[in-house]
Amino acid sequence: MKTFCGRANPTTGSMEWFEEGEDYDYHQEIARSRYADMLHDKDRNVKYYQGIRAAVSRVKERGEKAIVLDIGTGTGLLSMMAASAGADFCYAIEVFKPMANAAVKIVEKNGFSDKIKVINKHSTEVTVGPDGDMQCRANILVTELFDTELIGEGALPTYEHAHKYLVQEGCEAVPHRATVYVQLVESRRMWSWKKLFPVHIEAEDGEKILIPPSEMENCPGLPSVCDIQLNQMPSNDFSILSDVVTMFSVDFSKPVQSASTYYRVQLEPVRSGKAQIVLSWWDIDMDPSGMINCTMAPYWVKPTSALQWRDHWMQCVYFLPREEPVLQGEKLYLTACRDEYSVWYNLHKAREGENEAGEEEHKADVRVESPVCRCRAHLLWNRPRFGELNDPNRTHQYIKSLRKVLKTDSVCLCISDGSLLPVLAHYLGAKQVRCMQPSRIDLYHPHKLWQAFFKANHLEDKIKIIEARPELLKPSHLEDKKISVLVGEPFFTTSLLPWHNLYFWYARTAVSAHLASNVTVLPQSASLHMMIVEFQDLWRIRSPCGTCEGFDVQTMDDMIKDSLNFRESKEAEPHPLWEYPCKSLSDPQEVLTFDFTRAVPQHCLSTEGSVTLLRKGKSHGAVLWMEYHLAADISVSTGLMRLSDEKGNCEWNPHCKQAVYFFSSVIESEIQSDPTAVTYAINFDTKTGEIAMDFKL
Ligand code: SAH
Repeated sequence: MKTFCGRANPTTGSMEWFEEGEDYDYHQEIARSRYADMLHDKDRNVKYYQGIRAAVSRVKERGEKAIVLDIGTGTGLLSMMAASAGADFCYAIEVFKPMANAAVKIVEKNGFSDKIKVINKHSTEVTVGPDGDMQCRANILVTELFDTELIGEGALPTYEHAHKYLVQEGCEAVPHRATVYVQLVESRRMWSWKKLFPVHIEAEDGEKILIPPSEMENCPGLPSVCDIQLNQMPSNDFSILSDVVTMFSVDFSKPVQSASTYYRVQLEPVRSGKAQIVLSWWDIDMDPSGMINCTMAPYWVKPTSALQWRDHWMQCVYFLPREEPVLQGEKLYLTACRDEYSVWYNLHKAREGENEAGEEEHKADVRVESPVCRCRAHLLWNRPRFGELNDPNRTHQYIKSLRKVLKTDSVCLCISDGSLLPVLAHYLGAKQVRCMQPSRIDLYHPHKLWQAFFKANHLEDKIKIIEARPELLKPSHLEDKKISVLVGEPFFTTSLLPWHNLYFWYARTAVSAHLASNVTVLPQSASLHMMIVEFQDLWRIRSPCGTCEGFDVQTMDDMIKDSLNFRESKEAEPHPLWEYPCKSLSDPQEVLTFDFTRAVPQHCLSTEGSVTLLRKGKSHGAVLWMEYHLAADISVSTGLMRLSDEKGNCEWNPHCKQAVYFFSSVIESEIQSDPTAVTYAINFDTKTGEIAMDFKL
């Protein structure tokens, strides 16, 4: 079997499809999976074990045999816990073949082959009966099928089916129950991920304010969940408008319904403000009494309990369809709508004289269809990109730079996806502004969005969109003029790693024939920077586990290692580091520069060197990012913004992902005695636009 994998080519900016062997997909799945993270989640593991022991005891106390159904067994961990707790037999179901194979090995290695049967099927394919996969229905149902949104991995339909066909009535379930909590907040920072704020531009002839078109204002946005490490959101970035409220619960020991439905709660704001965001998380009770509880509550909710770091379960940010001013003590209704896999929210005010009983009449108001972007902006800009465009400091850097290079006779071409630079260039006095915005598979005719945008700002005919790709640019697109100012942020939606935005350089090269001899390119250059870091927690996702609650899971570690090494050279991976604190162990170092005033050279750009470890700590890996030099003394960083103190705490650009290269072995530096150096070799292949790197500790 062959798999087709789509990946943007950073030298052409377009998607290319590669035929990969069957193995590729599975290695990607394993290497980038959250299995390691789950096995490191001590709090989760301990509580599952407690819950499973309690459930087995309850069944035994009733004098019954304990027959366990473990749906989505992964490594087999929960089944092994059940078998150790005295279960008579476990059916361990796993749909993903490589994992089912691993589970067989792990179960065998730990001596449970006679008690655990691994079945490589989707649970809905499992049969029960004398000739079936299971001899009889189970009386203990164990699963861990939850994502940050609880139901996004299909827990509800899986439970619904299991109760109908695979487990006995009145079975024990671990977890027994899940509860979803919400809290209403106002947050300029999070709201800036959903809508475009007015942009203020100081032009020659006074201040100009760029406003989004009305369809963008009222657009419900995207249905996809926004999951983040909410514990990294500083408390001064949002203000709490309500108490924490229970939105809904699911009892997993009873038949579960997956069909679309809604839940509604009444809220009274604890302070007045603008309701914009619903923060949400869940907890699971492992037993009916609720004594064994595993919670995703963020730091301000239970400040006394130690927080377990985990990446497989985080917290959700939901955007209300529109901002709603609310008053302290006023009566509000918050509605959670859900289908089988996702949840969305709506807020409305109680009507005059309305009471609980009068709630019925509001049923018609409940929006049942999930949010779909109507304005196209949410297809063009993802949430971090909205945040980036809304960042006034960043905009100011570009304005300052444009002001330096633009003249009244400038012919300006902008190459960047969904950029506001053309509008800035126009207001700052460029004579002619063109913007290159080719169509994309997911965003057909982006110019329709721009038309609406220009119309709202009376800019029709001021800025022209060129839908052609750079290599197809014709003199007629430019009214036979040469480009005197070429600008880019640069930003391209297809970029995965920081250096993929160097596509700007390739595009610049492709339009060379159209550039005036004295063209100004903004940014004039870019540089790649690197720093060695110790992660507070992120290291766990790539760290072997060895044993988990006394069970040997090394087979899993080996499997992850094999998958990471599947491609000879290890690759850097993108992570938004504002969510993953780390401390610098070395100074940041500039390792490569890219001169946009010249065409991309034929030869590779490579560098070698060493970096000294200045602080005591564990070198988990290197972080790499790009900086763009817009004008003589103005640069923007897509990575490190500040090294905030002596201890090496870092502040990262909150809108961008940085590249993380995890070292295969970790070294501990004790700088007092002898400073350690890490040597590196970094190669930018101009043919592929990719960067390969190697580090020696
Ligand atoms: N139980 C393990 C692994 C949990 S990850 C642990 O707690 O450590 C969830 C696993 O369930 C994944 O391996 C996924 O492939 C599998 N899975 C999800 N839904 C399934 C279903 N309906 N039937 C079988 N396997 C499923």
